[in-house]
Amino acid sequence: MLLVCKAHIKQGLQYLNTPHIVPIKEENFKGCCVFCQQIAEYKLFYSIPIPKSHRLKVQEMIQRIVSCSH
Ligand SMILES: [Zn+2]
Repeated sequence: MLLVCKAHIKQGLQYLNTPHIVPIKEENFKGCCVFCQQIAEYKLFYSIPIPKSHRLKVQEMIQRIVSCSH
């Protein structure tokens, strides 16, 4: 599963095949968007959980892209 804010749904979708999107309704939800560290508003996920190792790989990829464009 990836957590994203409103601004980063599209980017998040690029990292999943046939993803599901669910708006986060929990009022006290504290998860951060994987792209920008804002409070996440959506969960993107497969029907099977993404292993933490894949999540870390995606975060690494994102950080590399971010550091290249600055
Ligand atoms: Zn974001």
